Amino acid sequence: MSQPITTSTPPAVAQPPARDHGQTGRPRVVIIGSGFGGLFAARTFDGADVDVTLISSTAYHLFQPLLYQVATGILSEGLIAPATREVLAKQQNVEVAFGTVTEIDLTARTVTSTTLGVETTYGYDSLIVAAGAGQSYFGHDEFGEFAPGMKSIDDALELRARIFGAFELAELAAASGRSKDVPALMTFVVVGAGPTGVEMAGQIAELSARTLPRDFRHIASEDARIILLDGADQVLASFGSHLGTKAQQRLQKMGVDVRLGAMVVGVDAQGVEYRRSDGTTERVPALTKVWAAGVQASSLGATLSEQTGAELDRSGRIKVNPDLTLPGHPEVYVVGDMISLDNLPGVAQVAIQGGKYAAEQIMRQLKGEPAGPRFRYVDKGSMATISRFSAVASVGKLRVSGFPAWVMWLAVHLWYIIGFKSQVTTFFHWAVSFLGSSRGERTATQQQIFARGALERLGSSYPPRVLLGTGRSEVPDHGGDAAPAADDRS
Ligand SMILES: Cc1cc2nc3c(=O)[nH]c(=O)nc-3n(C[C@H](O)[C@H](O)[C@H](O)COP(=O)(O)OP(=O)(O)OC[C@H]3O[C@@H](n4cnc5c(N)ncnc54)[C@H](O)[C@@H]3O)c2cc1C
Repeated sequence: MSQPITTSTPPAVAQPPARDHGQTGRPRVVIIGSGFGGLFAARTFDGADVDVTLISSTAYHLFQPLLYQVATGILSEGLIAPATREVLAKQQNVEVAFGTVTEIDLTARTVTSTTLGVETTYGYDSLIVAAGAGQSYFGHDEFGEFAPGMKSIDDALELRARIFGAFELAELAAASGRSKDVPALMTFVVVGAGPTGVEMAGQIAELSARTLPRDFRHIASEDARIILLDGADQVLASFGSHLGTKAQQRLQKMGVDVRLGAMVVGVDAQGVEYRRSDGTTERVPALTKVWAAGVQASSLGATLSEQTGAELDRSGRIKVNPDLTLPGHPEVYVVGDMISLDNLPGVAQVAIQGGKYAAEQIMRQLKGEPAGPRFRYVDKGSMATISRFSAVASVGKLRVSGFPAWVMWLAVHLWYIIGFKSQVTTFFHWAVSFLGSSRGERTATQQQIFARGALERLGSSYPPRVLLGTGRSEVPDHGGDAAPAADDRS
């Protein structure tokens, strides 16, 4: 009989001693996170007389604003997630480390990360914490199994597989005389009418109306129902009522069923249930659900709060000083989606500007120069696409919608994609999808849908066992569902 795996199983490889990063005698800066905040902080240290270690739980820099294009088959994941090590390869004073930070000791000035059960500890003189935010299901994490969020490459690939897979299942049902199953298979519910929800709803509508119609014999992909739900009474609430209304009208013209004042109260494999403002509820049978509502800051915020007493807001964001330092710790900066300061939004520019600012302040401190002025965010505007040739943009007092906003969106996103190679390739992918009607990245594998849930059930000690090969007997027998242990492979 197989033995269950417990998460408390000791690591397969002995822990190495704490790493000494002080060998060069230069000040040691540790950065946590390779997102916008972490990467731009690291780049700001280019040429500086410091040793920088960037630790991240992903080995790539993820351009989150284009995740929805990976989910809907326009771009490949590699284009929006270049290897951090490659991006920083020319910067000799930066070392990149793959690992999830589990502990920050503000007294000892150390950071401990874990990679496949192996712990590594880094000492620092200055620390920048840029660990971002994850999805929030508002206390209903159980929804996540049926309604993936949109925060990671795994999320986007799972959604891609679910979306394209739903059309395949609908075709199969129609072809085999199970036509009553088709409506639920071809209903796509997007929860949250912020920029991500609007972009997802718009892209699924385009997919069904422009890309897929010629490909199926038994279903009309144009009949797909796309329902966008939000508890608020406006689409794109942060863009103001003028642009929100424009976006809603455009979505409705594309056939998206926008339902506002709709609080989601239940999500399961078969559908979604929501409550209207008048208290009545409705259930929508739908195979494919996308969760684009709510964020929760990295739990490292709570770690820092416990040690300093710094306040956390409802989303787990930590209250920092106006110069982005942690109260009582001028050597520790927190930037990006993790911070609560002046109601700053969780957008890329807050993280980019915060990362650069923190690095500049550290360099000043190390040179013995007086600290610069407090952090001031320069709002460069916000944008959201609705469909090809249609977007909304809010820049200063300017409110733009339709084609001009879409061109602005295109230029800004192309500019910020990291690496010339990715910029050129993305441009061609966009030409194929927006000028033509096809999508080059429709590949979906079983792993994309099923592997994540299976791994969660197997527990965190399963991957190290497979990779480091520590004995088949400890791998549970799941009737062949699980991936084989390393020693099973020839
Ligand atoms: C789908 C989507 C669309 C978006 N669209 C836009 C947009 O159009 N415009 C805009 O301005 N903003 C947009 N945003 C928001 C923007 O992407 C974020 O504000 C920005 O990424 C925040 O940067 P950050 O560095 O704080 O965090 P992130 O970019 O999230 O980076 C966090 C990093 O920390 C790492 N990490 C997390 N925990 C740990 C740990 N314990 N140990 C080690 N590493 C860790 C992660 O792997 C990651 O590398 C969007 C976000 C999403 C999810």
